[in-house]
Amino acid sequence: MLCFDNRLVRELPGDAAVHNYPRQVQGALWSPVSPTPVAAPRFIAWSRETAELLDLGKRELQSPKWLAALSGNGILPGMTTYATCYGGHQFGSWANQLGDGRAIFLGEAINAAGQRFELQLKGAGPTPYSRRADGRAVLRSSIREFLCSEAIHHLGAPTTRALSLVATGETVVRDMFYDGHPVGEPGAVLCRVAPSFIRFGHFELPAARDDAPLLRQLLDFTLSRDFPEITGTSEERLARWFSEVCERTARLMVHWMRVGFVHGVMNTDNMSILGLTIDYGPYGWIDDFDPAWTPNTTDAQGRRYCFARQPAVARWNLERLAGALALITPDPKVLSAGLERYDATYTGEFQRAFAAKFGFVEWRDDDAPLVEQAFDLLHEAEVDMTLFFRGLAAVDPLALSTAALDDAFYDATKRTAHADAFMAWLTRWADRVRSDGEHATRRQARMDAANPRYVLRNYLAQEAIDRAEQGDSAAIHELLDVLRRPYVEQPGKENFGKKRPDWARHKPGCSMLSCSS
Ligand code: AMP
Ligand code: MG
Repeated sequence: MLCFDNRLVRELPGDAAVHNYPRQVQGALWSPVSPTPVAAPRFIAWSRETAELLDLGKRELQSPKWLAALSGNGILPGMTTYATCYGGHQFGSWANQLGDGRAIFLGEAINAAGQRFELQLKGAGPTPYSRRADGRAVLRSSIREFLCSEAIHHLGAPTTRALSLVATGETVVRDMFYDGHPVGEPGAVLCRVAPSFIRFGHFELPAARDDAPLLRQLLDFTLSRDFPEITGTSEERLARWFSEVCERTARLMVHWMRVGFVHGVMNTDNMSILGLTIDYGPYGWIDDFDPAWTPNTTDAQGRRYCFARQPAVARWNLERLAGALALITPDPKVLSAGLERYDATYTGEFQRAFAAKFGFVEWRDDDAPLVEQAFDLLHEAEVDMTLFFRGLAAVDPLALSTAALDDAFYDATKRTAHADAFMAWLTRWADRVRSDGEHATRRQARMDAANPRYVLRNYLAQEAIDRAEQGDSAAIHELLDVLRRPYVEQPGKENFGKKRPDWARHKPGCSMLSCSS
C-alpha cells in the first residue's frame, strides 16, 4: 500500500474558498479542488518504470480503484486533491496568475525506499485556475506527453514522468489551429509524477504581488522538502539554492541540445525548479538540423523558443526567477553568482556532451571551429541530426567515405552540392579523432552511447496518435518499447530510426503543432 504524506498542503497556506470557480487566489499557494469524474475511463497505456518508482505492480495499477483514481473518478486512502497557484512570463511578458488550470494533484506518495513523489492528473477537469478553459486534455496531446516524458527519461535527461494514460470516453472540443474550426476529439487524463512540480512561476507570483512573507514561506518549504542538502544561514541557503537551480537548468539545456529536443513553450511557468523537462505541449524533435526550427505555430513569427535559442531563453527565465527572489534578498548580488554558474555550467557541459557526440576523448579549446563548421554544414546541406551523429561513429577515419552518412540527407541536390565540403570536414574530423590515439572500437562505443539511434520523431508520435484515435493503442506500446533503449541498435525496429518521410514534412502534428491541447 502506497503511503501518502501531503506536506505541501499541510505546510503551505491554502485558499480559504472551497468552491470551484475561476478566481484570483491571494495569500495562498494552493486551492482544494476535486477532479470532475469522467464517463468511461479505460487504460490506454502506463509506464512500468514509473509504476516501479511507486512500488506499483501491474495488477494493482490495473485494479478498479487505481483506474478510478487515475481518471479522476475516485481517490485512494491518503490522497488529497488540490491545484497550485503560480504565475509566469509567457513569450516575454508578465502574464500574472496562471496556476494549475488542468492539473490536479493527488498528493505526495512515499515509496518503500523513502522517496517522495507528487502525483498529478492532467486533464481531470476545471480548477480555480482554469480561467475560461475546460480543464480537460485531448488524447493526442496526452499521448505526446506520455511518450515524450518516458523517452526523455530513457535518453538520460531529467524530466517529469508519466505513470498512466486513461481515455475518458468523453469528447473535448478544440480548435487546433485557432482558425475557427473547432472539432470534438477524444479526451484523456494523464497521471504524471515528479519529486516536485514547483515552477519558477510559483515564486514569481507572490513576488509580483509584493507578498514577501508568502514568498519566504514557499522558499523555506522548497528548501526543506526538495533541497534538504542545502544548509547555511537563510541568506546563504537562498544563494546556494538559486545557484543550484541555475546549474540544473544549464544541465537540462545541454541535454535538450544534445538530443535535438525543442520544448516549444519555455515560459517561466513551464520551468521546473528541479531542472526537469516539464509541461510537454507543442514540443518537437530536430529532424534536419535547423537551429531556427520551432514546432510551435504560435511561435512561428518570433521563434523565441526555437532550437538554438533554448539556452539563452533558459537564462532569461532564470533572470526572472532572480528578479522574484530579489524581494527577499538583502543583497541581490548573490543572485548574479547563480547566473554566472549557469553560463559556466552550460559551457562546460556542452563541451563535454559534444566532445562525446563527435568522438573526442576530451574537449580541446580549438575544437570549437570544427564543431561549428559541422553545425553550419548540417544546416546548409539539410542533414538529419540524429542520423548524422549516429552515422559519424561508423565512419572509418583511415578510409574516409560519406557512405555511412548518406541516409542522413533530405535533399539529393544539396547532398551533391555539399559533397566536397563534407569530405573536407571529415578529413579534419578524422585528423582530430586520430590525434586522441584512442582505439576505434572504443571511440565508436562512446559515440554510440552519446548519440541516440531512436528519438521520438514528431511523425512517429503522430502515427501512434492516428492509430490510437482509431481505437488501436498497440503503436503507443511499440514506440514506448523502442524508446526504452534509445542508444541500442534494435534489430527489426529499423522503421523507428529512419529520417522523417516526405509526407510528414509539413503535416500538422508532425511539423506544425499548436498550444491547443
Ligand atoms: P501551458 O501553455 O500548457 O503551459 O498552459 C498555460 C496555462 O494555461 C496554465 O495555467 C494551464 O494550466 C492553463 N491551461 C492550458 N490548457 C488548459 C485547459 N484546457 N483548461 C484549463 N487551463 C488550461
Ligand atoms: Mg504549463
